[in-house]
Amino acid sequence: MQENDIRHFPLRVTAPRRGACPICGVRHDAGQPHYKNSVYYLRHYAYQHGRLPTWEDAMAHCTEETQGRWRAKLAYYGIEPGDTDGQRLDTAGNAEANP
Ligand SMILES: [Zn+2]
Repeated sequence: MQENDIRHFPLRVTAPRRGACPICGVRHDAGQPHYKNSVYYLRHYAYQHGRLPTWEDAMAHCTEETQGRWRAKLAYYGIEPGDTDGQRLDTAGNAEANP
C-alpha cells in the first residue's frame, strides 16, 4: 500500500460556501440550473431521490424560457438532458462512472 494512494482517504463533502447555492453548492443565478456535476449536488440528490440527477432535474425550477435555452445548448453539445451521463450509484450510494 502506498501512503499517498487516494483510495485510502475518504471523500468529505463539506457544506457550500457562503453565497453559494444551498442545493448544488455552486454560485449561480437563482434562475439558472443547478450545477449538475457538482459532487455536493450529486451526493445530496442521490440521497434524497435514490438516483443521480439529470440536467432536467437540475433545471426543473427554471422558467420554460430558460429551460428551452439550456436544452438547445445541451443539444448543441450532444448532451441528452434526461441522461445521467453514464453515471450510476454503487451499492453504498456513491456516484461512479460506468467503465
Ligand atoms: Zn444550485
